[in-house]
Amino acid sequence: VLLPSVRTAEEIIYNKNYTHEYLSQDGLASFNEASRNLLFGADHQILNENRVYSIQAISGTGSLRLALDFIKQEFPNTTVYIPSVTWGNHPAMVDAVGLKQAQYSYLDKFGTGLDFASMLSDISAAPEGAVILLHAIAHNPTGVDPTNEEWDRLCVVMKEKKHLPFFDNAYQGFISGDPNTDAYAVRSFAAAGMEMIVCCSFAKNFCLYGERVGCVHTVVSDVSFVDNVGSQMRSLSRVLWSTCPAWGARVVSTVLNDASLNAAWLKDVRVMADRIADIRVALHAKLNEMNIKSSTGTWDHIKKQRGMFSFTGLSKEAVLKLKDRHIYMLSSGRVS
Ligand code: PMP
Repeated sequence: VLLPSVRTAEEIIYNKNYTHEYLSQDGLASFNEASRNLLFGADHQILNENRVYSIQAISGTGSLRLALDFIKQEFPNTTVYIPSVTWGNHPAMVDAVGLKQAQYSYLDKFGTGLDFASMLSDISAAPEGAVILLHAIAHNPTGVDPTNEEWDRLCVVMKEKKHLPFFDNAYQGFISGDPNTDAYAVRSFAAAGMEMIVCCSFAKNFCLYGERVGCVHTVVSDVSFVDNVGSQMRSLSRVLWSTCPAWGARVVSTVLNDASLNAAWLKDVRVMADRIADIRVALHAKLNEMNIKSSTGTWDHIKKQRGMFSFTGLSKEAVLKLKDRHIYMLSSGRVS
């Protein structure tokens, strides 16, 4: 089901009688600009300084793949650090482009919260100039995120070590209901003067899963590097998919560039974010009401974790038992 604001945008686009011509190698310019403004906030200093190159890509996955191809080409001997638990496509894609990879610690001993001290110490121990893959918001599959204060501390360490932040931003807006609030990590790293690559997916926050709408933003330290990054990214994308699909990008661009559609979309996003949060509260209450024992002694992590997924802390044995009652989840105890 399309959200109302998306459906209205589709009606507008139908009536405009677009041609079926290819997009340019960068993709749809009005979409790239809208995506950049949504990510950083239109008045961010790096946008005033024109230090971002943006290119359309095939949703979040294609964005990550293009960025990894770029990293492989520019820094062939670097290591990409990924969280010890992460979305399955991350390690597979790093392998696919032939880059070295290593893990940094993520979960605590219960497997339901963040072990920030270990995360920080692993990232700080990585060799200078490493690429650090970070989930910008709503870590998949755990729902466990650093706090804003923890992001600030990570930023200091990563700047000192000249690491390259490589953000996977697949859920902006879906957590707090406000895309600005959810962009904290990316915006504060950018404000700290760091170069970085950010891969954005519009699958969830625009309900455009199958339309494959994404964007890669590369922040450089000097405006003179923007053209260099652009020419490399364009040639890499050319051999990946030639050009991007136009339809979904037109929907996003139409919504974000129209004040009333944008307001309707923000409302839609809040509805979805609230719904996810409400389900967490209801599940937490029910588990307590039924006096079901948690492996960690509390179910509070269900409410603390964020986004569409939760690491419940249930053991493999418990997961198998629940199957008898027709309750299904991954053997890791992860529920959607
Ligand atoms: N990154 C993460 C962390 C995800 O969870 C997902 C979707 N499951 C993606 C990227 C990309 O999804 P898509 O290619 O559909 O945009």
